Amino acid sequence: RHPTAPSIMNGHFAGIGENANPADFEHGVQIVDQEKNFNENLGQYLQLEGIIRAGFNYHIISVFGSQSTGKSTLLNYLFGTQFGVMSEQERRQTTKGIWMSKNKKENAAGEKSMAENILVMDVEGTDGRERGEDQDFERKSALFALATSEVLIVNIWEHQVGLYQGANMGLLKTVFEVNLQLFLKNAKNVTRSLLFFVIRDHLGTTPLSNLKQTLIQDLQRIWGGLSKPPGLEKSQIEDYFDFGFVALPHKILQPEKFEQEVRNLGTRFREGYKNPKTAGLVDEQSEPILLSEYHRRIPADGFPMYARGVWEQIDSNKDLDLPTQQELLAQFRCDEIMKEVLVPFDEIIAPLEEQQAQGVAAGKPSIIAKLGKVMAGARSVLLASFEEEASRYHKGVYKRKQTELEGKVDGRLKTLFQGQMTAAHKSGLNDFSEAVTTAVKAGQKKGSNYDFHKIVSSEKDKALKRFESEAQTSLVTGTPWSDYKSQLNLFRKELDEVSGRLRKEEMRRLANRSERWVRSKLDESVGLEFNKLGSGRGGSGAPAEGQKPASERDLWDRIWNVFTDTVSHAESRFTERARSFDASPDEVEVGLWRLRRKSWGALRNKIDEEMMEGNLLLKLRENFEDKFRYDDEGVPRIWRPTDDIEGLYTRARESTLEVIPLLSRFKLAATSSPPPLDAWIGEAPSNVTSADEEDLQPIGGVDEDEAKSLEEEMTILSDAKAQDLSTRFKKTADGVYIEAKRSAIGGMTQ
Ligand code: GDP
Ligand code: MG
Repeated sequence: RHPTAPSIMNGHFAGIGENANPADFEHGVQIVDQEKNFNENLGQYLQLEGIIRAGFNYHIISVFGSQSTGKSTLLNYLFGTQFGVMSEQERRQTTKGIWMSKNKKENAAGEKSMAENILVMDVEGTDGRERGEDQDFERKSALFALATSEVLIVNIWEHQVGLYQGANMGLLKTVFEVNLQLFLKNAKNVTRSLLFFVIRDHLGTTPLSNLKQTLIQDLQRIWGGLSKPPGLEKSQIEDYFDFGFVALPHKILQPEKFEQEVRNLGTRFREGYKNPKTAGLVDEQSEPILLSEYHRRIPADGFPMYARGVWEQIDSNKDLDLPTQQELLAQFRCDEIMKEVLVPFDEIIAPLEEQQAQGVAAGKPSIIAKLGKVMAGARSVLLASFEEEASRYHKGVYKRKQTELEGKVDGRLKTLFQGQMTAAHKSGLNDFSEAVTTAVKAGQKKGSNYDFHKIVSSEKDKALKRFESEAQTSLVTGTPWSDYKSQLNLFRKELDEVSGRLRKEEMRRLANRSERWVRSKLDESVGLEFNKLGSGRGGSGAPAEGQKPASERDLWDRIWNVFTDTVSHAESRFTERARSFDASPDEVEVGLWRLRRKSWGALRNKIDEEMMEGNLLLKLRENFEDKFRYDDEGVPRIWRPTDDIEGLYTRARESTLEVIPLLSRFKLAATSSPPPLDAWIGEAPSNVTSADEEDLQPIGGVDEDEAKSLEEEMTILSDAKAQDLSTRFKKTADGVYIEAKRSAIGGMTQ
């Protein structure tokens, strides 16, 4: 069902059954039966007749008069109703209690139309012939008719006019009495009514104006004779009633004239407006009868309940308190209307609440698309429907219920909105950190020169904009709960926290990159220094002009220099990058400290790799061969028996053997002691955390709680290893020597 469809008021409320059967209402509906019971099906009848949703667009007319004066007959002619009429033979009262029927007359073409939704009440004839002297029902039905009807038709034979003591006058006395009673209790709430006299079997000899005069005099006499309550002694009958008069010809003797006059009368049941100040006689024979000031202002959908309440008060002989009745009605109806307008609202909102609850339960709060629009739509339809239906009722009650409904609905919408904000918050933080990570990865692919700071700040901007637009599309403009400033502030604060975490990760990445860079540089440059060992003359080829040939003696100086140069280069790059994304000086300090320690580890690894036994033996052999097998000019020797092979061999061997102790200790030539590693690494910064230290290897001579001394840290080969190496090298050298000897002899034989 579409929420804007007006069908929301299909009437599940008191007195309206679901299955109204037209056959049950052939003669209208008996509102009150002869046992004075109120009929619970009145609502069903109004529903069936399509009046329940008419609001104020309906009219209630009652007819009074002695029984068997042709009242039901008149109504049936006038309004096309099917009230029971007495058959000519039986002469027994037929209308019992109070009946109601909708006007069934189609508006005839060319004539003035009758008002819409006229409801006619046919009230049991008085006289008390069937009910004995029981005046009780007469009083009660008169009071009921007065409390509900705009027009009271008083049906009277012409020959009864002027018979002051007649039954009709008794009835009118009753009507006036109950009206005073009603007025006393309800003062400003009693609306004027029209007492409309229909004079039947008018012969025409006495003009209507005379009849009218007689009736007015009688009415005033009755009024004058009433004992009026204090305060109302001076009141006039015209203060409460307007009067109208019409005469109809004899139905049996002049049937055509009768029908013609009834048709004329029918056209007067149309709506009209009259200034209440000029209220008085409606005597023009074509004046509209249904003046708006007579309307009781009970909305049609509340009428069944109101009528029942009024009847119950009347029947239990309580003072009829119309304002209380109207307030009770308003409360009841407003509650019902509230329930009804909540049905289509729930159809839209409840699934969203469910969806949100499930998301929360699953730990994955979902964002509901177009939430604001959906909520605003449901809310405005609800409030508009409520206003349309409920504002017709007692204003104070309506306002109170409207506030209550708004509070109820806004409470739920606010919860939805805040849930949405929570979801937007969570997903916003997620998206933000994912976007930063992705952009960093893309940056890394293009080379590490991306601007982390820029990435973070642009993603932060985007996240804030997204959050705001999420909020904007989720709120309902004009509601006090649609404020997201504090949520936005919280989001901004947590974005900053996430940024801080991401910056730490970026620092870690930067550190790793720096370490890798140092390692690969050292691989190359330290490898090169060791390769130079292979040449006994310290370096391959002729040394460049002005450059001393590298000597094995300052191998460690060169390594230390290339190491510190490399690391210091890495340090300055590290510092520059870290500063570019706002790393704090403290963070930078820790990063550099770690970088130096890690770099030392890398150097130690590289040295150990170079010093692996096989590698070293090979290098020593090359060193030795270079000295032994090449002359000073670098030309390979061709051994001759006359050469001092033995002497050359011994010198070259001794020279190479000297390299072994040199390699065993990392010492600088100038001081002949280890490099100042501890000073170079420096004290641990005060803000180092245990996480920062987690993956660090201890360094001898630097870390206080490390048992190794700096001397030990700088020991590259143990004495035993050095000894073993010498022995093995000597054997290799011996082999080379023997080969040289052989080749000298061989050369001679050639
Ligand atoms: P009610 O008891 O006032 O509702 O009277 P009914 O409508 O049942 O009619 C009572 C009797 O009066 C019936 O026998 C009708 O035929 C007869 N009747 C109806 N209208 C007129 C009328 O205009 N003039 C006369 N003389 N008799 C009428
Ligand atoms: Mg009748």
